Amino acid sequence: MESNQQLGVAVIGGGPAGLMAAEVLAAAGVRVDVYDAMPSVGRKFLLAGRGGMNITHSEAYEQFVARYGSRAGVLRPMLDAFTPDHLRAWVHGLGIETFVGTSGRVFPTEMKAAPMLRAWLHRLRESGVHFHQRHRWLGWTADGALRVQSPQGELALRPAATVLALGGASWARLGSDGAWQPLLAARGVDVAPLVPANCGFDASWSEHFAAKYAGQPLTTVAINGRKGQMVITASGVEGSLIYALSAQIRDRIAAEGSATIELDLLPDWSLARLQEELSHPRGSRSMSSFLQSRIHIKGVKTGLLHEVLDKEAFHDPLRVAATLKALPVRLHAPRPIDEAISSAGGVRFEALDGTMLKALPGTFVAGEMLDWEAPTGGYLLTACFASGLAAGRDVLRYLA
Ligand SMILES: Cc1cc2nc3c(=O)[nH]c(=O)nc-3n(C[C@H](O)[C@H](O)[C@H](O)COP(=O)(O)OP(=O)(O)OC[C@H]3O[C@@H](n4cnc5c(N)ncnc54)[C@H](O)[C@@H]3O)c2cc1C
Repeated sequence: MESNQQLGVAVIGGGPAGLMAAEVLAAAGVRVDVYDAMPSVGRKFLLAGRGGMNITHSEAYEQFVARYGSRAGVLRPMLDAFTPDHLRAWVHGLGIETFVGTSGRVFPTEMKAAPMLRAWLHRLRESGVHFHQRHRWLGWTADGALRVQSPQGELALRPAATVLALGGASWARLGSDGAWQPLLAARGVDVAPLVPANCGFDASWSEHFAAKYAGQPLTTVAINGRKGQMVITASGVEGSLIYALSAQIRDRIAAEGSATIELDLLPDWSLARLQEELSHPRGSRSMSSFLQSRIHIKGVKTGLLHEVLDKEAFHDPLRVAATLKALPVRLHAPRPIDEAISSAGGVRFEALDGTMLKALPGTFVAGEMLDWEAPTGGYLLTACFASGLAAGRDVLRYLA
């Protein structure tokens, strides 16, 4: 095994959290080496930019912090030091403008991550950060050196401090595969198992329904009074409205074996108005064409009615009206973590002193591998950047 003594800081993982830690350290004049298992860094960040990357959110700060739920308290000091306003100013510093979308989400102009990542990596290289791609961290040697598999063979690194920013466990093909969990657990670090967050769920559609409607969007429906969009999939449901409720649904399934959501397929109609519309005589029309002409229910929404109502109930206007306002869909499992937007679970905050692992002094953690979760809307990236910044600053204090 090759031995590679170095005195700087090793940042393992070149996602947004690791790169932010590297930036803080390099700016303070510390030698930084970023190691990443993949042939290039920031792959998930780039993917996040593909469908319209939202980097943060413009809502009132208190409301913003509250989106981190039970972890809002522990994350607040990090977020206070890197608020959505700081984040936007930082993006502007890379020469990229931002804009606020109608939903309040903040996007870089062109909504893409690639120009931002390019500018950032250029700036990091200019400030002296060394990048080592295709370098996979494997854990520690018996005497505490970092084991890193490189194209030249295995290295044993002894940096002055280490930042682990290895991500969660979704979209493993982009680099973050969660393989760090047993490595940290074996060193006495308390790790909550990684579970899917912002994910879809499996339902028990009939074969006919799945074949006919998989991929169909349900625009403007509501669940528990929250309006949004979702998509029917071959195995169940996904989409922004489902992601927003996914933590609750996931936890209910874990506790009770299943979770039933009630879809309001016509959130802008009151039940009374629906009943009134459907009380008109149907004449010789089929129920489906009656629903389409009176209340514009057709296609996938009619399909959903057929999924939950038997023939007799489908022809009963009162039952149909009530079902349109609260159509039950039983969800029995989250989709696999690899398909999720993000993961929940990770290194528990109780295992940390700031961002340093109590069990491994000199080793710091940042990003999605920490035990927090948040909805989509820019909250994920903001906390990754903010925790990377916190880890960088904690390392500087440690080195001092
Ligand atoms: C489809 C999709 C869309 C998204 N859209 C958004 C969005 O619009 N807004 C938003 O806020 N968030 C979004 N996210 C989430 C966001 O991209 C992640 O939360 C964020 O990238 C996590 O940053 P990180 O630095 O913690 O980890 P990652 O970005 O996952 O980076 C971890 C890095 O560590 C490396 N690594 C892992 N293990 C090892 C090892 N053993 N040795 C060496 N290197 C290793 C990986 O190769 C990777 O480069 C999206 C995610 C997905 C999947």
